[in-house]
Amino acid sequence: MELNIVCIPGDGIGPEIVTEAKKVLDAVGEKFGHTMKYTDILMGGASIDVHGVPLTDEAIETAKGADAVLMGSIGGDTATSPWYKLEPNLRPEAGLLKLRKSLQLFANLRPAILYDELAGACPLKEEISKAGFDMMIMRELTGGLYFGERYTKEVDGKLVATDTLTYSEDEIRRIAIKGFDIAMKRRKKVTSVDKANVLDSSRLWRKVVEEVAKDYPQVTLEHMLVDNCAMQLVKDPAQFDVILTENMFGDILSDEASMVTGSIGMLASASLNDTRFGLYEPSHGSAPDIAGKDIANPIATVLSASMMLRYSFDLDKEADAIDGAVKKVLQDGYRTADIMPQEKEEAAAFKLVGCKEMGDLLTQRI
Ligand code: NAD
Repeated sequence: MELNIVCIPGDGIGPEIVTEAKKVLDAVGEKFGHTMKYTDILMGGASIDVHGVPLTDEAIETAKGADAVLMGSIGGDTATSPWYKLEPNLRPEAGLLKLRKSLQLFANLRPAILYDELAGACPLKEEISKAGFDMMIMRELTGGLYFGERYTKEVDGKLVATDTLTYSEDEIRRIAIKGFDIAMKRRKKVTSVDKANVLDSSRLWRKVVEEVAKDYPQVTLEHMLVDNCAMQLVKDPAQFDVILTENMFGDILSDEASMVTGSIGMLASASLNDTRFGLYEPSHGSAPDIAGKDIANPIATVLSASMMLRYSFDLDKEADAIDGAVKKVLQDGYRTADIMPQEKEEAAAFKLVGCKEMGDLLTQRI
């Protein structure tokens, strides 16, 4: 199979981590007989420096012509970089928002996995963390409160601010279908999170999710109120497989879930539209503080490449090979600085490696 992939190295550690992810993908291609065709485009600060804008129309067209996009990260030090003296619509992040909009990416997937080998980084009590967890937070990305009508006006001499939360049944149905499709590739359980005891939009959410569930008899569906879900994530995270939720709830819950893994350099993400197309990127930012030092952890980007193989190309065996290589490298005791235990005595049991070496070690294990 030929995989037509657009890469966005971006800024900061972006180029370093994307290089390692490509190395791992090439090893997968070699092993399973696929050809990886990469085209790089500029976005973020890298594009501002060359074109004066964070994303050109040509770059968008190139991305649209690909099967999937693999991204590093964009942005610089927001306090010191000249990119942040520009108008907001010309700053690095505006490029990413424009790309998401142009590609109509409405479904955001963020896995939160606690690897046995990194359980020490989990801030939860050991009796909870020892059960491990492996969940996928599926967040609606283009509707709800963040995109509703908003205004502030004066009423009786006092300012009153209003934000509106709107969801149509079509918007809910398309994300629900994605959620159940993803659950079919996992442990076949969907927890749909809402606030149906209060919000009309949540009651419609629940109704549509139940309709969609009828087409997936193998998947177990449960409903959970968002406040309970926030508690359950720290009390018993092992119970979750796919968490399906709307935009704002997903924003908050996905950050909470990533915190309980304790390892920012390990967290992948994907944003999908209603074709097989997706944008795959690590959950972390461009880490300008460590850029160019060969110490960044490339694993979040490598795992994003694994998600790309699984969700845009249906190459499950190939994705499993990457996930397995990550597990093996951790079992073999290799750690980048961010996932090294803080205690000197504990750290002595592990081998500290840089970004490039981590990429090589993963490649060898494909
Ligand atoms: P950040 O995630 O870049 O960094 C936070 C901390 O985590 C830093 O100490 C950094 O060194 C560390 N870190 C992050 N990724 C790491 C990795 N792979 N390996 C080892 N350590 C890692 O967040 P920030 O400092 O708030 O943001 C920096 C820039 O990134 C900003 O310009 C911000 O806007 C941008 N950003 C971009 C995206 C994106 O491209 N989607 C997402 C978040 C932030």
